[in-house]
Amino acid sequence: MDVMIKTSFRVADDGTLIMGQCVYVPNNEMVKRKVLQETHDSKFVMHPGSTKMYQDLKPHYWWPNMKREIADYVLKCDICQQVKVEGSNCHNPIFTICFRNFPKKY
Ligand SMILES: [Zn+2]
Repeated sequence: MDVMIKTSFRVADDGTLIMGQCVYVPNNEMVKRKVLQETHDSKFVMHPGSTKMYQDLKPHYWWPNMKREIADYVLKCDICQQVKVEGSNCHNPIFTICFRNFPKKY
């Protein structure tokens, strides 16, 4: 029995290639890196793990080997690796660093 995969592509007014409901990210390292950086280490996010990142990106973006490339990106993140090595289970080292930089008011 053949399995038919129905995929619909369309081009948006701004030239973006849309696959289903997702933006099809071109095979361009700079573009993919920008998407990964915005999702992983912009100042508004707290370095999510690869599974969370994949779940957040999946409804909006798609490219071949996306899941693998997200995992590789997180593995190569110095901050994530440092947090993993320190292995604290009672506080988040990222918060600790931020609070240490606040001036004491007492
Ligand atoms: Zn990270």
